[in-house]
Amino acid sequence: MGLLNQDADLRALVRAIPDFPQPGIVFRDITTLLRDRSGLQQAIQHLHDQCHDLRPDLVAGIEARGFLFGPALAVAIGAGFVPLRKPGKLPAATHAIDYDLEYGTDRLEIHRDAIHPGARVLVIDDVIATGGTAAAAGQLVAQAGGTLVGYGFLIELLALRGRDRLPDVPVRSVLVY
Ligand code: AMP
Repeated sequence: MGLLNQDADLRALVRAIPDFPQPGIVFRDITTLLRDRSGLQQAIQHLHDQCHDLRPDLVAGIEARGFLFGPALAVAIGAGFVPLRKPGKLPAATHAIDYDLEYGTDRLEIHRDAIHPGARVLVIDDVIATGGTAAAAGQLVAQAGGTLVGYGFLIELLALRGRDRLPDVPVRSVLVY
């Protein structure tokens, strides 16, 4: 994890927004990285370098910001891409999982036929905070018949110990805060 923390250039492209979306949260804004051609290229390259040994058949991206890195990472690794979506967005039959947020609950859905039985699946998102969303995503992948081979994140917020909620598979991150 965080092998690339010395990568000052990439870190500098992530903007910190204090008190968003609520007081006390420091939001790690990756839009400033995405718009930078070198930053975007490096981000995908580093995610690839961290995750390719897991040999996924599919990269599963968590809506919404997992969609910003997932497909490019899938191309780099030579995998397909599957979206894990918020409720009511997917048109065909779905599996769903409900999970707890700090306030309230949320739900992720996947198409029932998205994953061939036993396919190797890497779950990807921009940020891991408490790990609740990623844990639910991993359970959903398993429910849909996939073999969860690990997680990849561009950013890991270490103090929140999210990886402790993701037992049994490798958790890879590029930048740690
Ligand atoms: P969590 O379930 O707590 O790991 O966080 C879930 C989602 O919230 C992830 O998809 C992150 O993209 C987003 N998130 C949580 N905390 C932050 C933060 N400080 N900055 C940016 N995104 C965040």
